[in-house]
Amino acid sequence: MTAGAKPWTARILTLFPEMFPGPLGHSLAGKALAARLWALETVDIRVFARDKHRSVDDTPFGGGPGMVMRPDVVDAAIGSVVDAGGADPGGRVLYLSPRGRLLDQALVRELAGGAGVNLLCGRYEGLDERVIEARGLEEVSLGDFVLSGGEPAAIALIDGCVRLLPGVLGAEATLEEESFERGLLEYPHYTRPAVWQGRTVPEVLLSGHHERIRAWRLERAEEITRARRPDLWSRYAAGRKV
Ligand code: SAH
Repeated sequence: MTAGAKPWTARILTLFPEMFPGPLGHSLAGKALAARLWALETVDIRVFARDKHRSVDDTPFGGGPGMVMRPDVVDAAIGSVVDAGGADPGGRVLYLSPRGRLLDQALVRELAGGAGVNLLCGRYEGLDERVIEARGLEEVSLGDFVLSGGEPAAIALIDGCVRLLPGVLGAEATLEEESFERGLLEYPHYTRPAVWQGRTVPEVLLSGHHERIRAWRLERAEEITRARRPDLWSRYAAGRKV
């Protein structure tokens, strides 16, 4: 990175800016944040509420439980970050939503490779559909379960991206061997003590024979993937020349 260049930036639109950096202020991501290897900006959606009660939500048309985030307020918040144009991380806005495309390592890698991310966190029942359409929001889901807000999902997404940024993880090699990077889940790990509660460590790992260790790890990774994730396994097996 050249001096003065802006690092990879996570910009979060939220009703709860005080939730950030939260867990991202600690450990690996926190150290990288302090070292300015990435930057965090929050936009408080409530600031864009215009009525005297500062309301950001209202009851759903058609009835039913809960509240819906108002399109005018959310649109103004989005406009404050994208309408200026050109500013990193650009005009793309991801809306964390259980209806979205499932977040996976390929998307995390793609996002980490760009200038940063604009993330919109929903609360209550979610957003008025019209602002999703009008702003072309890309919906991204953390998984098939429902959170009470987009913030924990945004934190997870950012954490996944930050550890891929240059200089954040010490050994680049760790990344290549990790779960999903080769389309496989990871092999099992062991450390000292060599015997614990009567349980030993696989002999090969103590052999110092790097080629045999590599082969053993690949075998175990394949075995675990085949047993636990048939979906990943069939994709991997199809790509592998057998
Ligand atoms: N009524 C919605 C759920 C709203 S949950 C539905 O049934 O689909 C409130 C907010 O939490 C959402 O707007 C979204 O921003 C966030 N959220 C909930 N589950 C999520 C998930 N699996 N992935 C990403 N964000 C999620």
